[in-house]
Amino acid sequence: MRTKQFKAESKRLLEMMINSIYTHKEIFLRELISNASDAMDKLYFKSMSENIGLTRSDMAIRIEADKEDRKLIITDNGIGMTKEELENNLGTIAKSGSLAFKTENEKTEDVDIIGQFGVGFYSAFMVAKKVTVISKAYGSDEAFMWQSEGVDGYTIQEANKDAHGTQIILEIKDNAEEENYDEFLQPYKIKSLIRKYSDYIRYPILMDSEHEKLKEGSENEYEKEIVTETLNSMTPIWKKSKTELKDEDYNSFYKDKYYDYDEPLTHIHTKTEGTATYTALMYIPAKAPYDYYSKNFEKGLQLYSSGVMIMDKCGDLLPDYFGFVRGLVDSEDLSLNISREMLQHDRQLKLIAKSLEKSIRNELKKLRNNEREKYEKFWEAFGTQIKYGIYESFGANKENLQDLLLYKSSFTGGYVTLEEYVSRMKEDQKYIYFASGSSVARIESLPQTELLKDKGYEILYFTDHVDEFTVQMMHDFNGKEFKSVSADDLGLETEAEKEEIKKAAEENKELFELMTEKLGGKVKAVKLSQRLKTHPVCITSEGMLSVEMEKVLSAMPDEQSQAAKAQKILEINAEHPIFTKLKSLYETNKDALADYAEILYSQALLIEGMPIENPVEFTNKLCEIMAK
Ligand code: ADP
Ligand code: MG
Repeated sequence: MRTKQFKAESKRLLEMMINSIYTHKEIFLRELISNASDAMDKLYFKSMSENIGLTRSDMAIRIEADKEDRKLIITDNGIGMTKEELENNLGTIAKSGSLAFKTENEKTEDVDIIGQFGVGFYSAFMVAKKVTVISKAYGSDEAFMWQSEGVDGYTIQEANKDAHGTQIILEIKDNAEEENYDEFLQPYKIKSLIRKYSDYIRYPILMDSEHEKLKEGSENEYEKEIVTETLNSMTPIWKKSKTELKDEDYNSFYKDKYYDYDEPLTHIHTKTEGTATYTALMYIPAKAPYDYYSKNFEKGLQLYSSGVMIMDKCGDLLPDYFGFVRGLVDSEDLSLNISREMLQHDRQLKLIAKSLEKSIRNELKKLRNNEREKYEKFWEAFGTQIKYGIYESFGANKENLQDLLLYKSSFTGGYVTLEEYVSRMKEDQKYIYFASGSSVARIESLPQTELLKDKGYEILYFTDHVDEFTVQMMHDFNGKEFKSVSADDLGLETEAEKEEIKKAAEENKELFELMTEKLGGKVKAVKLSQRLKTHPVCITSEGMLSVEMEKVLSAMPDEQSQAAKAQKILEINAEHPIFTKLKSLYETNKDALADYAEILYSQALLIEGMPIENPVEFTNKLCEIMAK
C-alpha cells in the first residue's frame, strides 16, 4: 500500500502546528473529544432532519487507556467518516468538515458544533508517535482505517468496524527527558483533563475503571469489578436559563469552582447577542483574595468556546479596576484553536470585554442602590482598586467609576456617595470638602476641620493613600470641585472678611516674615488662620501637592517621589493667646521668637501625623521654655 503525502503546504503547517500553535500538549484530549462531540451533533442533526429516530441519549464518548501497549483510545458513535471524508478531512490540514457542515446547514439552537479550523485533530501528534483512525460513516456498511506517524504522510485502507462512528487510537510517545508522556495514560490525569477542558461537552464521556469489591457471601475475599464512570458534568450552569436557577445553585457552583468558602456578594449572568455573542457568568467575591493587592495576583475570566475551555485566565476580558471579578465567558464566536498571542488582537474579544465592563458596572450600581449594606462590604474589599482605576487612567475612567465611589463623612459616620454629598450641599457651598489622615478618629481631631464643621459643612474623610490623588485626577464631580480642608483658600469668606484678613496680614507682615525667615525654608509662609477656632496652629499647603500627598510620596521607593515636598504654610490662630505672645516677642526678644516658631512648626507637624526633623532639639527647646 502506498503512503500518501500530506499536501505540501500541509506538511509545513503540520510541523508548525505540532510544535507551536499549542502551548500545552495536554489540550490534544480536548481537541479529540470536541471532534467526537461534533460528530455526534452532526448525527443528531441528521436524525432530526431526516426523522431517523436517534436521540442524544443514544450517543456517548468512550475512553480507554492501555498502559502496557501505551494506547489511548477515544471512541464515539457519531456520524463517522467515509473514505473520501477521511482523505479530505484528515489528509488536508486546515480543512474543516465541521466548518463546511456549519455553512451548509441552517443554524439550530440545539446543535453546537465546535470545530471550524481544521487543525485540532493534528494536536494528537504532540503526544502520539502514531495515530490510527477507524471510522464508519452512518448508514454505510464499509469501514476504513487512516494511519499516520506524523509529517511523513498517511495511509488509508479498508477495515472492520461494527458500529457507526469513529475510533481514534493514539500510540503515546515514550517519555523524553523533559516530557512525561506516561501521564496521559493515567486515569487520574485523564479525568482531571476532562474536568478541566471538557466538563460541559453535552454527551457523556465514559471510562471504565477496575475496583476491588468484597465477594458476595464472603468476608475477606475480593473480586474485581468494572465500573463505568461518567467523567463530565455535561450541562454548564451558565447555559441554563436564569429562571431555572436559584441563588444556591449559583453560589455552590462558585464555591466549587473557585475554591472560596465565602458566598459571593452577587452574580451576573448575561446572554448577549449582536456585535458580540456570548454568555457570561461572573461573580463579585465578598473578600479580596490574600494576594489581591500584590504583584502575584492574576486577573482574568475563564474563556470557553461553545462549552469547551480554551483559556483559564483571560486577563484581557477585565479592566484592572474590575480585576477582582471571577467567572467565565462562553462564546461561539471564538475559535478553539487560538493561542494567547492571537487572542490579544482578537476584535471579538475586545467587544466582549467592553460589554462585560458595562454589565459589571451596572451590577455594582444596582447593588449600591438596592443593597447598600452589601455594596459597602464590596467597597471595603475592593474600593481602593476602583479609586486606582480613576487615578491610573489620569481621570479617563472617571465617568465610568465616579458613581461607585464611597467615602466616610463628618455627617453620618457611615459611607456617602458623591451624589449624596452634592445633593445636601449648602446653598452657598462652592466645593466638595475633604480632610485626609490615617484614620477617621485622627481626621476628626484635625484643627483644620474646625471652622468648616462649625459652619455646618459636610467633610469627606480620606483615609486611603490614593484618595487625594484620585480626586486630583477627577478635578470635579458634576461641576463641583474638590477642596482640601488644608487648602490655601477654602472659599468661605465674604468680601468684608477678605478685607479684614488683608488688613491683619498687612499689620503683622514683619512678624510673619521674620518667622518665615527663622524657619529657614521649611515653610513658604506664616499666616493668620481663617479656619482655626480654638487650636493655636496648623499646617496647610499651597499648590498641587498637599501635605497628605507628601506623606504618601515620601513612603515610595524612588528618590524622585521622596523629594517631592508640599509648599507648607504655618497658620496661626489670631484669637489664641500665643499670638499675643508672638507679637510681644517680636518687639522684645527676636531670638526667642525663632525658638517659638520652631516649636509651633513642630507641633503642627505632629498634629498632621508627620515626623519632626529633630525631636531632640524640639523637646530641649520646649523644656527650656517650660523651665523659665
Ligand atoms: P475542526 O474540528 O476545527 O474542523 P479538526 O482538525 O479537529 O478540525 O478536524 C478536521 C475534520 O475532521 C473535522 O472538521 C471533521 O470533519 C473530521 N473529524 C475529526 N474527528 C472526527 C470524528 N471523531 N468523527 C467524524 N469526523 C471527524
Ligand atoms: Mg476539531
